[in-house]
Amino acid sequence: MITLSSEQKQHAFQQLRSIKEQFAARHWFPGTSGNLSVRVGDIADGQFQFAITASGKDKSVHTPEDFLLVNENGVPTDATSLKPSAETLIHCEIYRLTGCGAIFHVHTVFNSIVSELYGDQGYVPVQAVELIKAFNIWEENARIEIPIVPNYAHIPSIVPEVTQSLNPSIPGIVLRNHGIYAWGADSFEAKRHLEAFEFLFEYVYRMDLLRK
Ligand SMILES: [Zn+2]
Repeated sequence: MITLSSEQKQHAFQQLRSIKEQFAARHWFPGTSGNLSVRVGDIADGQFQFAITASGKDKSVHTPEDFLLVNENGVPTDATSLKPSAETLIHCEIYRLTGCGAIFHVHTVFNSIVSELYGDQGYVPVQAVELIKAFNIWEENARIEIPIVPNYAHIPSIVPEVTQSLNPSIPGIVLRNHGIYAWGADSFEAKRHLEAFEFLFEYVYRMDLLRK
């Protein structure tokens, strides 16, 4: 296991704290839902560590028990009484598949409704909306398909669905009627991607209403 410095850990916790505060202000963590993680240190021989929000905490307040460090299997690497979120395994898989630096997961009304609306088809289609550029897709009239995977109560069963459906050129995946995982090279980019996805989901939702 790679040894991380105390500064590296503190820096990661500080980043998560700042993102947590901003997303909480947008009401993106209803009922203690959602989770945030930032990778700390490099990925070496498939091994890595990341800081993640602890399970079941009210994310609208700051406490000393908000975050913990886990390894690529979702197992805590420091002595702690905190439990990682049940969904940590999905973070592990996204880090493994993409090599990204940060992953943010939120439940919103728009991502839930749109994922249900398009769930049978397996993706949310979006075309020619300016914010697609937030994903570094610059072509005119670009059309993207945001993957949707089934949501199971048994989290380990969701992992192979993510493995199968994740599209490396789209930095997000939606769990049907549950929420989105968005990621990026660092927390700045992951936040930009998540904001763009949420804009696009609201756009799709409202456009669908107008067309009826
Ligand atoms: Zn969730």
